[in-house]
Amino acid sequence: MKVLVPVKRVIDYNVKIRVKADQTGVETANVKMSMNPFDEISVEEAIRMKEAGTASEVIAVSIGAQQSQETIRTALAMGADRGILVQTDEQVEPLAVAKILKVLVDRESPDLVIAGKQAIDDDSNQTGQMLAALLGWSQATFASEIELGDGSAQVTREIDGGLETIKVSLPAVVTVDLRLNEPRYASLPNIMKAKKKPIDMLTPEDVGVDISPRLATLKVVEPPKREAGVKVETVAELVDKLKNEAKVIGV
Ligand code: AMP
Repeated sequence: MKVLVPVKRVIDYNVKIRVKADQTGVETANVKMSMNPFDEISVEEAIRMKEAGTASEVIAVSIGAQQSQETIRTALAMGADRGILVQTDEQVEPLAVAKILKVLVDRESPDLVIAGKQAIDDDSNQTGQMLAALLGWSQATFASEIELGDGSAQVTREIDGGLETIKVSLPAVVTVDLRLNEPRYASLPNIMKAKKKPIDMLTPEDVGVDISPRLATLKVVEPPKREAGVKVETVAELVDKLKNEAKVIGV
């Protein structure tokens, strides 16, 4: 069974995001970039399937700038077999990503696509769902457990206040949530080995997908600054403030 894993290069989750002065987006120049954390979880899951003998090949795919090769290399160092980079310097929206992934799925014929539930830069939570729709495949989103069966997968989904277990027929698109697994760190020998693994280089034109934007960002603003707190002397004063100033407890 072949598994395709889309991996996105995003601003590292430890970086304090700065909004550009003209409010058109966030600052990306000279900022540390890494693999989207949810995609590390999908790569880990695909590799575990390979180690368990259920997956035969794991292909890591990225759509983005030349430097997204590094993100693919990270996936290869974790254990993926080969990579595909669809290179563009343009911003690629989830619909265009899904269309590109569809072409690659048609070419590669995987039985399973494991994507992140969302990219932490745009927080769209759209790509996996759109891909499943374009392919006409089953989808299981927010997975916290995936058990492969014969021609199907049993997926436990994280839903509000609980878990839902569903069975989907393969081929399918699964998007992963935080509790699915703990991704491994690549060892130095595996980082060295990954340098020799192949990465196919393509462009959106090669796959025949028009990536021109369908959305216009009107503005991006910082979250409101938190106001400084105050120290209270007594419990009575605290209760008084909660009642009369913050109005968070009843009078
Ligand atoms: P989003 O819908 O943008 O929140 O992204 C959800 C998931 O789709 C991510 O976790 C990735 O697995 C995949 N994805 C989105 N954009 C890209 C991209 N440019 N390259 C590779 N995978 C992507």
